[in-house]
Amino acid sequence: MTHVTNIPGAEAVDRYLIETLTPEDEALTAAQERATAAGLPDIAMAPNQAALVALLARMVGARRILEVGTLAGYTAIHLARAVGEQGRVVTLEIDAAHAAVARENLRAAGVAERVEVVEGPARDAVTRLVEDGAEPFDLVLIDADKPSNPDYLEAALRLTRPGAVIVVDNVVRGGRVADSASQDASVVGTRRVLEMVAAEPRLEATAVQTVGIKGWDGLTVCRVVDPAA
Ligand code: SAM
Repeated sequence: MTHVTNIPGAEAVDRYLIETLTPEDEALTAAQERATAAGLPDIAMAPNQAALVALLARMVGARRILEVGTLAGYTAIHLARAVGEQGRVVTLEIDAAHAAVARENLRAAGVAERVEVVEGPARDAVTRLVEDGAEPFDLVLIDADKPSNPDYLEAALRLTRPGAVIVVDNVVRGGRVADSASQDASVVGTRRVLEMVAAEPRLEATAVQTVGIKGWDGLTVCRVVDPAA
């Protein structure tokens, strides 16, 4: 199967939409520049997609957010702004170099006090949060190693309560998600997490495809519900 990674014109439209509705301020531009200068991969959410997750957070009045996969803290800055001064973002990152850039970006953006960057494997970190009986999160963004998505969803369900939002990023993978024969661990993890979402009575969900400056991908948005209500 051949895959296209974008459609003609999609990048120009994305740039137009971003400039029109979600232009980056100095802190966000500087955060991207620091990430590039440090040689980090260009895999943060697109500005308008990070803004979408932050908008969802504001819509549910989120005060506590868990992000799995920090990179340079680009989306974490959006999320920190969404929770406000009294809010809290916990963001999980396995790579010490990424975490260091993220801490610098969060400090420069003036939101470091409300964001905890937890260094180490996210699976260990979410297990600790569950075991420690962490206060529930209002929104969980899953955006790290895709083969572990099922584990992160399980943890997210234990760390949230009805009314919370769970977002899983990169669920289309240039169309590869539709390939049921794929042996790619990221595709397998993504298909598994979508099946879990579909079968989970505690979740209402949809998924949409996206094109633009980050290519052809997509995200799943879930709402945690009380199945007995
Ligand atoms: N959410 C970020 C944003 O939009 O700004 C982008 C996150 S990037 C797509 C994925 C990040 O997850 C990378 O920085 C990578 O090092 C991290 N990661 C990969 N595997 C991980 C693991 N097992 N535990 C924690 N972080 C992991």
